[in-house]
Amino acid sequence: MKKLLVDTAERAARYLAELENRHVAPTPEDVARLQALSGPLPQSPSDPSQVLALLDDIGSPATVATAGGRYFGFVIGGSLPAALAANWLAGAWDQNSAMQVMSPVAAKLEEIVLSWMVDLFGLPSSSGAGFVTGTTMANFTGLAAARTALLKRAGWNVEEDGLFGAPPIHVVVGDEVHVSLLKALSMLGLGRSRVTRVPADAQGRMRADALPPLDDRTLVCVQAGNVNTGAFDPAGEICARAHDAGSWVHVDGAFGYWAAASPKYAPLLAGAGAADSWAIDCHKWLNVPYDSAVAIVRTAEHLQAAMAMTAAYLTPGAGREPWHFAPEASRRARGVELWAAMRSLGRSGLAELIERNCLQAKLFADRLSAAGFTILNDVVLNQVLVSFGSEEETRRVISNIQSDGTCWCGGTQWHGQAAMRISVSSWATTNEDVERSAAAMIRIAKQGSQA
Ligand SMILES: *Cc1c(COP(=O)(O)O)cnc(C)c1O
Repeated sequence: MKKLLVDTAERAARYLAELENRHVAPTPEDVARLQALSGPLPQSPSDPSQVLALLDDIGSPATVATAGGRYFGFVIGGSLPAALAANWLAGAWDQNSAMQVMSPVAAKLEEIVLSWMVDLFGLPSSSGAGFVTGTTMANFTGLAAARTALLKRAGWNVEEDGLFGAPPIHVVVGDEVHVSLLKALSMLGLGRSRVTRVPADAQGRMRADALPPLDDRTLVCVQAGNVNTGAFDPAGEICARAHDAGSWVHVDGAFGYWAAASPKYAPLLAGAGAADSWAIDCHKWLNVPYDSAVAIVRTAEHLQAAMAMTAAYLTPGAGREPWHFAPEASRRARGVELWAAMRSLGRSGLAELIERNCLQAKLFADRLSAAGFTILNDVVLNQVLVSFGSEEETRRVISNIQSDGTCWCGGTQWHGQAAMRISVSSWATTNEDVERSAAAMIRIAKQGSQA
């Protein structure tokens, strides 16, 4: 066992060191070689060290270098050293974090991390939380608590009696709502299409002046960090209006909520702390390994009512049993990496990570606009939208950047226009990575226009 683990650690370290020199996207040849991993299930056992060697030799080249410093697609973080190492240790521990009795350390680390998070985010210390896979599930979990609370107030027990015949809940979202929030609504029986969409402004922020009439059976979904522009809905104004009417406010703060870690960027979140539930990703900007996010709910009892494994969850003096706060029973111990990441960065390290990535986004915007290309958004956080000219030209440049391999960015549509989206979300990104990537983008964009 020891030799296998040490050998694997060496392979992993070599993989990470080679990220500096390899193409960010795997080559088509590397992807084709994956065929070597298939074939029928072997008749007999294989030596684990040979299994690992095959996995590394064939699998590693076919990865996307998202752990390196020059991946700017979607919103993807890397893995902090302490978080990756803690993830390995947690793998060796093989803990089931469903119940305290199954793993006292996993249960305790969730409690500690929750206390650090509510402190960092400025949320009530009495909040409840579930540790889940990603913001899709964090939205699901927070919205389930909202559904429970709004229907309970209307005299309906949704956990026991379901949604058939229940009083209707009115759901309000911004026009720029993330698709994962709509998916969460669909899984909760609240429907993707029966929402009221509020118009957004030029940066994609929900317009508070365009809110529909609200009441005490309304669920308002706010966004902190638009996936294209990084812009924040005016949460303070929306929360004030919604709470006057007795509505519930849920915040999708997947990456944007980490702005709270920086005194410089925290004002973007002004008023969001007044909401009732929050969904926040950890595998994005906190830079822990996949998969990890947290759903925080102001009134812990609503979350517990929505997620309890049995109706008999309120055993006096029982303490926090993890499985009464999340959709799953058996779960891996996500709190281990969260604790290691936050413990290793501390407050100043977290602020530095957020501020450095935001400055790097500005550096991209400066370099690209100085070269004559158009930045389509106000760069307020870590997201940059670039146009290289016509729709066709922008698509061509994105595709050539992806195959060039110096860095990786994806495409998006912004206000009916094709755009390249740059997301700077990794602890591993250096200013040198940004300069090298911006130079490659400019070279590729100019090559085409001369041809
Ligand atoms: C990434 C993202 C999500 C979905 O998160 P997953 O972790 O992929 O499930 C939801 N909302 C926003 C704003 C996002 O950026």
